Amino acid sequence: MTTIAFLGLGNMGGPMAANLVAAGHTVHGYDPVAEAVARAADAGVITLGSVVEAVRGADVVVTMLPSGALVSSCYDEILGVVDPGTLLIDSSTISVDDARAVNARAGEAGMLQVDAPVSGGVKGATAGTLAFMVGGTDEAFAAAQPVLDPMAGKVIHCGGTGSGQAAKVCNNMVLAAQQIVVGEAFVLAEKLGLSAQSLFDVITGATGNCWAVHTNCPVPGPVPGSPSTNDFRPGFATALMNKDLGLAMDAVASTQARAPIGTHAAELYADFARENGHRDFSAIIETLR
Ligand code: NAD
Repeated sequence: MTTIAFLGLGNMGGPMAANLVAAGHTVHGYDPVAEAVARAADAGVITLGSVVEAVRGADVVVTMLPSGALVSSCYDEILGVVDPGTLLIDSSTISVDDARAVNARAGEAGMLQVDAPVSGGVKGATAGTLAFMVGGTDEAFAAAQPVLDPMAGKVIHCGGTGSGQAAKVCNNMVLAAQQIVVGEAFVLAEKLGLSAQSLFDVITGATGNCWAVHTNCPVPGPVPGSPSTNDFRPGFATALMNKDLGLAMDAVASTQARAPIGTHAAELYADFARENGHRDFSAIIETLR
């Protein structure tokens, strides 16, 4: 099978790499955090001591990192080591501009490269049911699809380079607004004497249903294992949601799109992230009580 180097074995990358191992691939992993390395090793990832060691000889390199700056600095190292024709998949959430910049550098070095950010959270990463939004040429997409499949419920080719990231910022702007308004609804229900379980049962069978309720319910009880049942440990950290909303607001500004609700959600999360960046983003419900 294919040798895949996986850089970034955190909340998402760890279980994604584990699913590639389970699919029969040889997976070489690197992360600077010892705890992440230990978890990945337990799942069968061959862990190595640096980016360069992890990517040497790989057929495919997957990056799952917190920021565009880190993706770019990892590409500095990757492009000096891997063979021409290697497939590079960046699944981090970064800006469209950063995605296009690393793609151009990879192309100049003779690599196939796609942006392939994901939706579905840690649950989806663990279950192998992530939605991948892929930007890149038809050739690069065709090469990436079989690598993504063991980690995916859905793989969508969104268009040329950067269009996966474009889809991702639009999706997360929707998610942020939904998580806030779902919190508003559960707090309103509390004040009206309606139980959280009853509201959950109604919404999940009705027109208000969405991931922010059926999977990431912000009150403990209705969804076993949701971050709200675990002191709001992420899940999807508020700092990362705040980052994604910053990318969305940059895109709104540069295209002069109108997004009044998305903009308000970005303001609320920027405020909340100041002291709650490490907590799941559904914890914003606490500011509504
Ligand atoms: P995380 O912080 O848990 O993991 C990122 C990992 O990258 C960390 O373990 C960190 O040590 C590692 N890292 C940093 N520098 C590195 C380097 N030079 N080489 C190798 N590894 C390095 O974050 P996460 O939640 O796994 O998110 C990763 C990406 O996925 C982010 O871009 C995020 O926006 C996106 N994302 C997250 C979720 C989610 O629910 N957590 C959902 C969709 C998308």
